[in-house]
Amino acid sequence: MAEVLIIEDDDRIRPLLVKALRELGHTVTSAPSGMAGLQLAVDSSPDLVVLDLGLPDVDGTQVLSMLRAVSQVPVIIASARDDDPSLVGALDAGADDYVVKPFTSAQLDARVRAVLRRVASGRERPATLTVGGLTIDLAGRRVHLDGREVELTPREFDLLAHLAERPGEVVTKRDLLVEVWRQPWGGSDKTVDVHLSWLRRKLGETAAAPRYLTTVRGVGVRLAPPDDQPDEGD
Ligand code: CA
Repeated sequence: MAEVLIIEDDDRIRPLLVKALRELGHTVTSAPSGMAGLQLAVDSSPDLVVLDLGLPDVDGTQVLSMLRAVSQVPVIIASARDDDPSLVGALDAGADDYVVKPFTSAQLDARVRAVLRRVASGRERPATLTVGGLTIDLAGRRVHLDGREVELTPREFDLLAHLAERPGEVVTKRDLLVEVWRQPWGGSDKTVDVHLSWLRRKLGETAAAPRYLTTVRGVGVRLAPPDDQPDEGD
């Protein structure tokens, strides 16, 4: 069980979330604004943060960016906003998962357990993966390409690490939504595409001129060293 911090301004929803998470056995603290939440996150080092986007003082995405500057604590966004830009924006700002309001406590519980499980399994594999000139330090969550460090968001890192654990294998977008986004019942291929294109840009390549990441049309994507790529392209 975990220490969970809830950052939520709605006076009806906040106590319900606190109660639901306590009943699931977690220790829960809460804050009604972005700045109060950030302060608590720094002071109490929770295991997990549940963050609303529509906050009265600072937008949740900004809260997340500020939090990411000082902490890698897992963050689940809980928001009524279900449009693609909000979702992608939050994930790119470093959110680990996203639940759309209204959600049931069972849904929230499933997300919380999935995120905590992912963090725990991350701790159990202090390995480094190497694919050609790419070095992926799973424990330190750092990536080097030809000796230079590549700055990735947490989601981009997870995506790259997942592919690097299966070098040369075509991984489907559905697989990625399940394994990287933890969305077995939904999610959009577009989300994967957007993150893949960011990842490509950071690795200095494009879909049209792939080096490490090759899209196999209608199937998925494969990570392999540039000289191991069959030349079927995008
Ligand atoms: Ca709100």
